[in-house]
Amino acid sequence: MSLFESPFFQDAYSQLESAGNTMKMDPNVLERLKYPKRALQVSVPVRLDDGTVKVFEGYRVQHNMTLGPGKGGIRFHPHVSLSETAALAMLMTFKCALVGLPLGGAKGGIKVDPNDLSRAELQALTRRYTTEISMIIGPDKDIPAPDIGTDGQTMAWLMDTFSQLNGYAVPGVVTGKPIAIGGSLGRAESTGKGVVFCINFAYEKLNKTVGSNTTVAIHGFGKVGMPAAHDLHAQGAKIVAISDVSGAIYNKNGLNIPQCIEWVKSRKFLRDMPGAEHISNEELLELDVDILIPAAIDGVVTKDNAPRVKARLIAEGANGPLTHEAVDIITEKGGLIIPDILCNAGGVIVSYFEWVQGLQMFFWDLETVNKKLHDIMKLAFDKVWKNADVYKVNMKQAAFITSLQRLEGAMRLRGMWPG
Ligand code: NAD
Repeated sequence: MSLFESPFFQDAYSQLESAGNTMKMDPNVLERLKYPKRALQVSVPVRLDDGTVKVFEGYRVQHNMTLGPGKGGIRFHPHVSLSETAALAMLMTFKCALVGLPLGGAKGGIKVDPNDLSRAELQALTRRYTTEISMIIGPDKDIPAPDIGTDGQTMAWLMDTFSQLNGYAVPGVVTGKPIAIGGSLGRAESTGKGVVFCINFAYEKLNKTVGSNTTVAIHGFGKVGMPAAHDLHAQGAKIVAISDVSGAIYNKNGLNIPQCIEWVKSRKFLRDMPGAEHISNEELLELDVDILIPAAIDGVVTKDNAPRVKARLIAEGANGPLTHEAVDIITEKGGLIIPDILCNAGGVIVSYFEWVQGLQMFFWDLETVNKKLHDIMKLAFDKVWKNADVYKVNMKQAAFITSLQRLEGAMRLRGMWPG
């Protein structure tokens, strides 16, 4: 698949183009931003436990580095492709610019279902992939982090392999590491926490409060969905449905979230949870709830199901869960969407904190991390809210406009105009 082929890339670019046109941006800048700076495709051979060798496809794409080194997760998922990785790298450029980080946009991934591999196979896969992309990553070049199907352990293997290649420990090459090897307090929960901050900021603007009357459905109960559920549950909200790749569970009176977290953390699927009412992932997206958090994969709300989505507030925990047509349909119905590059930016913000702490070898307490996270997200949320008003556009467009304003300024100062 070529760079521009996937519907996800086309969708992300068309949203960017439309924001650029609204703010009457020089089309030359848009042309430059359509193309990633660099895209590396690698083959990752792994000897499986049964003795056979299987070769996996891997990618690392660096979209734009005007503001600093590349930053972006590594995804292990069967749908990974060059085009999807390029789209995600592009979103990272705009996310980092939006929240004011000195970082550019990158993304990586391997086309694999991690559930099919043993721990030893996953380790071998991660180590070989790291070796193959090692020439373009590093603390000053491009700093990976976890994404779908990867976690702190994956990052620890990546750091170890990169350190072996260099002959000394290089903790700054990745973020999302376990605390014991230079991770930041609060990083694991940061994306979900940021989603909940944004929900509260939106409710404040609407003169509402999250409480026991607030109903929530969460699509995807992983590193983003789980902490978001935890924090909303702690605030008293009723989480009526959650899901994973195996399906969804539902309780109109609210699920016992601590119990669900324990179940999923012991690597069990929700479809096997006893005593729960099971519904499909598709049904979850259409539940009549106050807040829907799509926190699994991209493209789950499209023009086909958007007319049936009833949630009043949609907080995009995942990257690109709503297509631009779905955004238009839901906005027309009066729904409010907190866009991905704002809503899920908590992860990259605390990744940035982790990188800074690692470079300084000086580590902050959890309160400091969460306070700084809150303040950066509040500033970005307010800027986007204001731009939505100034340009009379939805929050998605306003978020792209806010990012483009910063990027255009930086590109101008660095003399990086195309042509
Ligand atoms: P994860 O692997 O920890 O969790 C993903 C969840 O989605 C799991 O519950 C999985 O079972 C479920 N899922 C996977 N495929 C599915 C499908 N086809 N249908 C329904 N559910 C499915 O991943 P994550 O890190 O939580 O990432 C989720 C989303 O959030 C991704 O879009 C990712 O890019 C985005 N994101 C993650 C972070 C982060 O810090 N982890 C930061 C920003 C954005």
